[in-house]
Amino acid sequence: MTLLALETSCDETSAAVVRDGVVLANVVSSQIQLHAEYGGVVPELAAREHLKNLLPVTRAALREAGVDAASLDAVAATQGPGLAIALLVGFKAAQAVAFALEKPFIGINHHEAHLYSPWIQAQTAAAAPPLRLAADFQQFQPNVSLIVSGGHTLLVLVESELHHRVLGGTIDKLMSLAYPAGPIIDRLAARGNPAAYDFPRPLLHDANDDFSFSGLKTSVRYFIRDHPSVLADPQALRDLCASIQAAIVEVLVKKTIRAAKREGVRCVTASGGVTCNRKLRQELERACQQQGFELRLAEKNLCTDNAAMIGILAERKLLAHAPLPSLAEEVQPGWALT
Ligand code: ZN
Repeated sequence: MTLLALETSCDETSAAVVRDGVVLANVVSSQIQLHAEYGGVVPELAAREHLKNLLPVTRAALREAGVDAASLDAVAATQGPGLAIALLVGFKAAQAVAFALEKPFIGINHHEAHLYSPWIQAQTAAAAPPLRLAADFQQFQPNVSLIVSGGHTLLVLVESELHHRVLGGTIDKLMSLAYPAGPIIDRLAARGNPAAYDFPRPLLHDANDDFSFSGLKTSVRYFIRDHPSVLADPQALRDLCASIQAAIVEVLVKKTIRAAKREGVRCVTASGGVTCNRKLRQELERACQQQGFELRLAEKNLCTDNAAMIGILAERKLLAHAPLPSLAEEVQPGWALT
């Protein structure tokens, strides 16, 4: 079975071709440069950029995969959640291709697809295709999956294939210091002292699996207001970044491990853009090793948004004969995973 998948929920335009669990191509065009000067993603600009890039990105994916559009068996796209006018571009294009080819169309929940990205792995053998769905991924179910990006944090119990339950989460923005803040904090924090400043660990001691970083953000804002000199002193700035990062990572790791223990799983996974953060990867590795959990982290190029995970999940849904949406379906910008 050969599928084309499109992803345009936020600021990456991506197309992938997937066949029998193998990612034949995964082309991603990032818009980070475009939005950086505005300090965040501007929906109208994102949609316009998706419109401009979608066709070249899709053509490139088909070419790289060596697949002719006429030989596709199904077409998938992200249906939500995401920016409405950004989602529309990829979703409507995918519906049009499916309609023209008279093939099934599959609308995918972006967060559900993230649950699959830690299992899309690079192959070591030179002759093997670069990425494929791990053959044994079902052996590691149930597992607890942390999805964390600039826009959302979710903790999900993956019970079995296509069956999952959201344990907790938040949709408040993790950081809005600058766009994109994550890689900047990661770089500065690497040479800073994480114990230099003491920031709150929000909800760490609450019994629920929810996250909220707005209180932390407020305390960082007040700290900078009261100590403006830290921004001018390179080492103080590195210490500040390391201290903020330490607070965020501690909350994410401790709450994930606590949920995994409570749910009695033996495996923890993590994906989403923030999972590129080196400190978060290290601390998850350390904690899982200590507690005896198997850990699967999404590969760095699959942490951020990509169509490979959309295609992989779409293929699993087709194989499981999950009900498919009609071509009359619309995007669901607020589609929360349950
Ligand atoms: Zn995402």
